[in-house]
Amino acid sequence: MAVPRNRNSNARKNSKRSHHAKKPKYATVCSHCNTPRLPHTACSSCGAYHNTPPAAKEA
Ligand SMILES: [Zn+2]
Repeated sequence: MAVPRNRNSNARKNSKRSHHAKKPKYATVCSHCNTPRLPHTACSSCGAYHNTPPAAKEA
C-alpha cells in the first residue's frame, strides 16, 4: 500500500472537500399545492400524484 510522503495542508484538505457539499434532495414541485416533493411519489401534504387530484387517494 502506498504511503503518503508529506502531510497535506489544511488549505489543500479543505479545497479537496469543496466538492463534497450535499445537493438538494427535492427535484420536483407539486402541481396542486406547489410544495417540493420527491419524484414518483405522492405529495406528502395534499396526496396528489402525477396530475391525479388529491381526492382520488385511498383512505
Ligand atoms: Zn401537493
